[in-house]
Amino acid sequence: MALTDDDGKIRWRQSPYTLLAGILILVAAVAAAMHAIAVAVVLSVGAVAILAYQPARSTRADTVPIPVIEAQPVTETPRDNIGVTSAALSAIDLPLYLIDARENIVFQNAAAAEAFGQSETNSHITTRLRSPAILDCVRETIAKGNVNTVEYSERHPSTRVFLVRVAPVANEGRPTHFILSFRDISESRVVERMRSDFVANASHELRTPLASLQGFIETLQGPAKNDPKAGERFLGIMLEQVQRMNRLVDDLLSLSRLELKAHIAPADRVDLLPLLGHVRDALQPLAASLDVEIALSLPADPVFVAGDRDELIQVFENLVQNACKYGQEGKRVEVTLTPATKGQGAEVSIRDFGPGIADEHIPRLTERFYRVNVEASRSKKGTGLGLAIVKHILTRHRARLIVKSEIGKGSVFTVRF
Ligand code: ADP
Repeated sequence: MALTDDDGKIRWRQSPYTLLAGILILVAAVAAAMHAIAVAVVLSVGAVAILAYQPARSTRADTVPIPVIEAQPVTETPRDNIGVTSAALSAIDLPLYLIDARENIVFQNAAAAEAFGQSETNSHITTRLRSPAILDCVRETIAKGNVNTVEYSERHPSTRVFLVRVAPVANEGRPTHFILSFRDISESRVVERMRSDFVANASHELRTPLASLQGFIETLQGPAKNDPKAGERFLGIMLEQVQRMNRLVDDLLSLSRLELKAHIAPADRVDLLPLLGHVRDALQPLAASLDVEIALSLPADPVFVAGDRDELIQVFENLVQNACKYGQEGKRVEVTLTPATKGQGAEVSIRDFGPGIADEHIPRLTERFYRVNVEASRSKKGTGLGLAIVKHILTRHRARLIVKSEIGKGSVFTVRF
């Protein structure tokens, strides 16, 4: 009975009423044995009363404690369940709108408010988005219940391109709600554009010397076949063109290698004093040929920075070389190393006293193949990639390039670590 379970084991722990009644009967029996009849009668009546009025006999299953779960209203539509839905949508960093079949905004998440401004709940989608392409897309999805995507670009406050996706909220039967999501693809568009510009520019840069080589070869095979003097001159020009292609390929390879390790910070520590001395020595012949003096101004103590020695040599050779080439008429290039102070990292500045660079060019100097004057650059054996390489290396070194220039007075290129 109640005191044992299916295995016959005593389960008195599970039935306190039965246990109490049992104790009373036991004590009553003892009282009866001791001839305390009145006490035995009272105890027996108590035991019977307890057994009679104990709660309905529990089953095995409901003796196991069950956690109390408050009943939640079961909802049919996202609108009813808007609390849960909005909390979930708010946690997503993609701009999102939940709209109903009448194109009213039921909910907008924080990312949408930030991207497109705050909307009134239940306002029509057109109060926030006026693009006919998006509205057509929304109508198509509402009418057919399928997913549609469309590209949408904004010009103000800045140019942004979004991939807009309109999708029905999966529900049994006809969908009542729809989600508009906006994926910002501006950055990938810029990268795509840069990539295709880069390929076009690189091909163009290679095509020019190649066309020139082809022209000279044809001339040497034809009209200049028996003209050794012209032949010698042409071969000299051809060698220059081949060297130009070589420089270009070297710079392109350098850029692609740098791109591969763009996110890996250099692990070595480099003293800038001997490094800048090395750069000056390496460029001395070029400077002398251009009649430019390179003046080094270095502190007494070593200045260590985290860096890759070869890459830093490439940076400073490029900057000093440019200063010599483009600032040749100033006849002097000053290279100054300033050690780190409390608030600022070490700095190397390269100053020339040449013609300077107009303000509009300065932000674009580190773009690949950007030159202020294409012919001047080519005649000085430039590839248009030098400063792009410098920028890549400095980015990897967590350093900045700061360019200041004044027309007629010269330029200062500063590397700040
Ligand atoms: P390039 O191979 O043409 O020298 P860079 O990327 O090194 O390419 O430089 C880009 C352009 O920046 C140069 O073509 C030149 O017009 C300009 N420039 C760079 N340094 C200087 C400077 N010190 N003074 C004037 N113009 C400069």
